[in-house]
Amino acid sequence: MAAYTWDESATRVTGVILESSGESIKADFIADVSGRNSKASDWVKKAGFTSPERSNIGIDVGYTTFVVAEAPNNQRDWNMLYTIQKDIPADTRGGGIFCIEGGRYLVSAQCYHKDYAPTDWEGFLAHFKSHPFPVIYETIKDCQPIGEAIEYRYAAYLRRHYEKLTDFPSGLVVLGDAICSLNPVYGQGMTVAAKEVEHLDQCLPQCASTGHIADKFALDFFKGATKFIDAAWDAITVEDFRYPQTRGQRPKGYALLKWLNRRFFALAATDKEFSVALTKVIQLVEPPESILKPKYLFKALFARLPDYQGEPSYRPEAASVGAVKQQPDGAI
Ligand SMILES: Cc1cc2nc3c(=O)[nH]c(=O)nc-3n(C[C@H](O)[C@H](O)[C@H](O)COP(=O)(O)OP(=O)(O)OC[C@H]3O[C@@H](n4cnc5c(N)ncnc54)[C@H](O)[C@@H]3O)c2cc1C
Repeated sequence: MAAYTWDESATRVTGVILESSGESIKADFIADVSGRNSKASDWVKKAGFTSPERSNIGIDVGYTTFVVAEAPNNQRDWNMLYTIQKDIPADTRGGGIFCIEGGRYLVSAQCYHKDYAPTDWEGFLAHFKSHPFPVIYETIKDCQPIGEAIEYRYAAYLRRHYEKLTDFPSGLVVLGDAICSLNPVYGQGMTVAAKEVEHLDQCLPQCASTGHIADKFALDFFKGATKFIDAAWDAITVEDFRYPQTRGQRPKGYALLKWLNRRFFALAATDKEFSVALTKVIQLVEPPESILKPKYLFKALFARLPDYQGEPSYRPEAASVGAVKQQPDGAI
């Protein structure tokens, strides 16, 4: 897709022009899902509409990933093993082992603020050995890599504030990372995009009675989609701002959110019911308000904050080391 086509008044998008052939394709309605590098905001600006404001939060996250051959006859009772930072901002290193087909591991280091893991195998091992919980090093130290390391860098969150616009072309909406690209470490981008699609599905039947897409359809859609984006954005950016190097605008109520998050995570480590409730919020199954109940707030107030002094290096039940246990059918 190289551009949109417009009606004579340049207020309604009527189709797209294909980049490969230059061919025009007509459409009654277009959902632009072209990802983080979407040109949608530039194209609507070129047509005379306001371009959405942008927010960036700089975190300089880097992934370094190796595929590794699992030791033959390896006795393990997990399919995924991961560690996160023990003490932010002192620690910038986390990572995981994901069991994949063909008796292989996908081993990925995920690090903040340019503390990128080396791409040579020896350096990669040394990097994992330096983690506060060196369980990944202990698991892979006798394995052999298959092929070269793959690197991925993610410098900053990017949000385009379509919800603040007061004018927008008819016949067009923008979805997914094209609206908001979130720190991939938290694994929420697809969920937010899916929630937006669900929201679009709920909005579209309103057009059935009139037989056409209303002029303000997109503006209403963007406002409605904000609640999913805000839920993810506020919850995870507050964690990333624990690093003083993180660049950008802190979420509203940052000090309270930071305090509350710490208490909530501490409570989740010991309270099963709350752990499930918190996970549902993190996975956007329930809204953030669902955990702001007096009973949870009261317990969170007195939750014991984690003290990792003297932790053994491998303790899957500890808050910062997770192991997803194998099910009888091998699924995770
Ligand atoms: C390293 C990494 C790990 C992640 N892990 C997770 C995770 O565990 N869980 C999770 O939920 N999310 C995760 N995410 C985020 C997730 O991948 C994105 O949020 C999601 O893919 C967004 O979907 P999208 O369709 O909006 O954009 P994209 O998946 O980026 O798709 C956009 C597509 O549009 C195409 N395109 C762009 N411009 C044009 C054009 N002009 N014409 C035609 N096509 C075009 C692109 O080539 C691309 O194929 C991760 C992201 C990264 C980078």
